Amino acid sequence: MPSRTSYSALSLLRGALSGHRHWTPAWADVTPRASYDVIIVGGGGHGLATAYYLAKNHGITNVAVVERGWIGGGNTGRNTTIVRSNYLFPQSARLYDFSLKLYEGLSADLNFNIMLSQRGLIMLAHSRHDLDSMSRWANAMRMNGVVADLLTREQVGELAPALDLSPQARLPVLGGFIQRRGGTARHDAVAWGYARAASALGVHIIQNCEVTGFIEESGRVVGVDTSRGRIRAERVGIAAAGHSSVLAKLAGFRLPVTSYCLQAMVSEPIKPILDTVIISPGTGAYVSQSDKGEIVIGAMLDLYPSYAQRGSFAIKQAIMAGTLLLFPSFSRLQMLRQWGGIVDVVHDSSPIIGPTPMAGLFINCGWGTGGFKAIPVGGWTLAHALATGKSHELAEPFQLQRFVSGRLVDEAAASGIAH
Ligand SMILES: Cc1cc2nc3c(=O)[nH]c(=O)nc-3n(C[C@H](O)[C@H](O)[C@H](O)COP(=O)(O)OP(=O)(O)OC[C@H]3O[C@@H](n4cnc5c(N)ncnc54)[C@H](O)[C@@H]3O)c2cc1C
Repeated sequence: MPSRTSYSALSLLRGALSGHRHWTPAWADVTPRASYDVIIVGGGGHGLATAYYLAKNHGITNVAVVERGWIGGGNTGRNTTIVRSNYLFPQSARLYDFSLKLYEGLSADLNFNIMLSQRGLIMLAHSRHDLDSMSRWANAMRMNGVVADLLTREQVGELAPALDLSPQARLPVLGGFIQRRGGTARHDAVAWGYARAASALGVHIIQNCEVTGFIEESGRVVGVDTSRGRIRAERVGIAAAGHSSVLAKLAGFRLPVTSYCLQAMVSEPIKPILDTVIISPGTGAYVSQSDKGEIVIGAMLDLYPSYAQRGSFAIKQAIMAGTLLLFPSFSRLQMLRQWGGIVDVVHDSSPIIGPTPMAGLFINCGWGTGGFKAIPVGGWTLAHALATGKSHELAEPFQLQRFVSGRLVDEAAASGIAH
């Protein structure tokens, strides 16, 4: 087990004095064992957080996270880093707000700066009807115990002066609401922080290792076949986002998941101009400025199923057009990078966390376009299910069984972009 260097101003100074040549690796490079208590398929944020909470909350450290590429190389490293808990239904509010609270203490918990920036998140209203919908949304949040404040156009203007607020604008801004605790966190840091903390507790992080099948004995999953050989386990968890249905098929069951590409892009870095997060459900654009100065622009889904991590030109064009209607001055920016990730959308835009039809196999998926904010709670609740065999109280409403019973939790309207 690697000894974890405690990161502090003093250790940074020591590192600098020795030319930064003596840092211990943040997580250990290991050869897989023949068997583990728990295997987690997928080294994104949810898989790594699951491993960390298995070790920390339940004392289960004989755990492997098996990742086919590199950790955080999936959607965890591809998202627009927005965190919030502005959902409509009480069960979702409880889930996502628990996650935001874990985020609020995560840098200290992991001893790794995840660069949480609670700069506030504004949902924009572009019509009288939008204003009515947003009052209903903000009221629902308040009834769920999550603070939200309605904003007039002038208040929006004070918080984001770069927006075009003229009444003649093609998409006039009439107001909106703000969740002040919303904001951004550094996505790679979340993956690396969980990986480092889990590794220090004894978890094996195995990269470049693709799961190609599940070992089944007497109707129970007892391990996985991988590109690096067979590994047995008492329990297996899947946290593979857009590839969840591929893995479910390997295990012999179907999921109500459709995989789509969601894309995002960043501009060249510029001086600080936007210190809040702006979401415009009317255009599908969500915009923030990274600490490096890039304008980060998130787009809508490509509305056809795909595993191609690219994103269509039509959506790119639509989202650029929408962004420029909101921020005309951004027309002078050069775009630096664009990318896509494969997201796992379910019919009610809510997650699935718990057992599968296969004994011994558990799953965390269905976060679709909004699972970065849910990494802490996704890991916490999947760890609980793997450790105890029972669903965590927060995850009860989010079982696969709801697609049989019809007790859906339809959060499509709160996902910020059209689903
Ligand atoms: C462009 C974009 C913008 C987004 N913006 C936001 C946002 O602002 N806020 C927000 O909350 N959410 C956002 N999301 C959604 C969010 O990124 C995801 O919901 C979240 O990262 C999912 O995390 P994960 O750990 O489940 O999946 P991932 O990070 O995708 O990890 C899954 C891992 O499983 C691995 N894997 C797959 N198949 C196998 C296999 N057979 N064997 C082994 N490993 C395998 C993959 O390589 C991958 O690393 C966005 C997503 C995208 C694409």
